[in-house]
This record gives sequence, structure tokens and C-alpha cells, in this order.
Amino acid sequence: MSDTEFSTLEELGVTLVSGPLLGISPIADGIRLAVARGALDFDAAYPALGCDARSGLAQMLGADFSSDGCIMVDKHQRSTVPGLYAAGDNVPGLNQISSAVGQAAVAATAIRNDLSKQMTLCR
Ligand SMILES: Cc1cc2nc3c(=O)[nH]c(=O)nc-3n(C[C@H](O)[C@H](O)[C@H](O)COP(=O)(O)OP(=O)(O)OC[C@H]3O[C@@H](n4cnc5c(N)ncnc54)[C@H](O)[C@@H]3O)c2cc1C
Repeated sequence: MSDTEFSTLEELGVTLVSGPLLGISPIADGIRLAVARGALDFDAAYPALGCDARSGLAQMLGADFSSDGCIMVDKHQRSTVPGLYAAGDNVPGLNQISSAVGQAAVAATAIRNDLSKQMTLCR
């Protein structure tokens, strides 16, 4: 964050606290966050978005990855390893439930269609 952004937030009354969150505990009328400089009390707390992709298994199988550990997929959710598909937060893009569900539907269809090229699925 730039100095200008930092001072703009301060002018708007937003307090920025750097450093790790040391603890979270419920209090009578809200939630208490413990940080290095002491306790901060709030009505509610919302964790910032962001995630670490748990893509170790796909990595072991030799799939291609983005620089932030997401599994690279084509428009049918196929990874670069034949037979390995990925959807949701583990692939690049918007990390939201609706995206994950849509990608899962695309992957399921691709799996079905890819399998049907190898065997007859129904008569
Ligand atoms: C604080 C927060 C708020 C959010 N709010 C919203 C919101 O309001 N609206 C919205 O659309 N999205 C929201 N999201 C994003 C949304 O939760 C994700 O995009 C969505 O859950 C991704 O689905 P997924 O199936 O890819 O991953 P996940 O839902 O994370 O599911 C992955 C599952 O795999 C399991 N797992 C991990 N590693 C292993 C392993 N090695 N072996 C077996 N199982 C494993 C995990 O335990 C988990 O159950 C929010 C996310 C966070 C963190």
C-alpha cells in the first residue's frame, strides 16, 4: 500500500494494524482480536479473501501450475495431465461458490464426454 493510500484511509477514519493476528475470542457483545499492540474489540470480524491452493496431489502427478500454485486447466477444466480435471479455488480465476459449482459442472460433462470416447457409457 502506498503512503498516499495509507493517509487517505487514515483521513477516512480507517485504522490499519500491521502484523499477525494472535488470537480470536468471543466477548459479550462481539469479538476480540488479539494483536501485538493489545486487544481490539469489534461487533464482527470478516477474514480477508485469499487462499493457498492445496494442489500438492496434482503437483505430484505432474500438472502445470500458475505462479500462485493454481492448477492450469483448459476451458473444459482439463489439466495438462490426461484424466485429471480441476475446479474451484484450485484453478485460476474468481474464488466464489458460483464459479466453483459452474466449473464442477463443466468438468463433470468433460469427464463424461472424455470417458465416452474410451468406452460405451450407455446403449
Ligand atoms: C472467509 C471467506 C468468505 C467467503 N465468502 C464467500 C461468499 O460470500 N460467497 C462466495 O461465493 N464465496 C465465498 N468464499 C469463497 C468460497 O468459499 C470458495 O470459492 C469455495 O468454497 C471454493 O470451493 P472449492 O470446492 O474449490 O474449495 P473448498 O470449499 O475450500 O473445498 C475444498 C475441500 O477440500 C478439503 N481438502 C483440502 N485439502 C485436502 C486434502 N489434502 N485431502 C482431502 N481433502 C482436502 C477441504 O477441507 C475442503 O473441505 C469465501 C471464502 C472465504 C475464505
